[in-house]
Amino acid sequence: MIDEDDMKHLGRCVELATRALETGNPPFGSVLVDEHGDARFEDHNHTVGGDDTQHPEFAIARWAAANMTPDERAAATVYTSGEHCPMCAAAHGWVGLGRIVYASSSEQLAAWLDDMHAPPPPVAMLPIHTVVPGVPVEGPFPVMAEAVRELHRRYQDSQT
Ligand code: ZN
Repeated sequence: MIDEDDMKHLGRCVELATRALETGNPPFGSVLVDEHGDARFEDHNHTVGGDDTQHPEFAIARWAAANMTPDERAAATVYTSGEHCPMCAAAHGWVGLGRIVYASSSEQLAAWLDDMHAPPPPVAMLPIHTVVPGVPVEGPFPVMAEAVRELHRRYQDSQT
């Protein structure tokens, strides 16, 4: 189940994805929220410099490993504008983070990129559950996903 607080955090992810786009990066943004509902860390994609591993969910996993106990990590939720890629899902699983809520799915992104005649990513767009079967996952959410699709359209337009 997803509530108003969840939607608020997803809205923040879309804002962060917008900021990524405005700084030349692909539009992805994520927020780490602890068991008390407090946002502890947030980031957006930073791949424009040429390091394609600079995803916000990977940054969150590293931050959580450095700053939270295992119990705190397990009780935390990661909100993200787009479903974790396999690299980030693995990092999430390795550091023992809890629930994931995403606005748009990898399946949706693959279809959008195809529609936009964009090259597919070099890494398979597997669902989170294929990589980390034990993590509770919720998404996608249609209104938020539509906003994310529009950001990807703007990004692809900026690349041509
Ligand atoms: Zn990733």
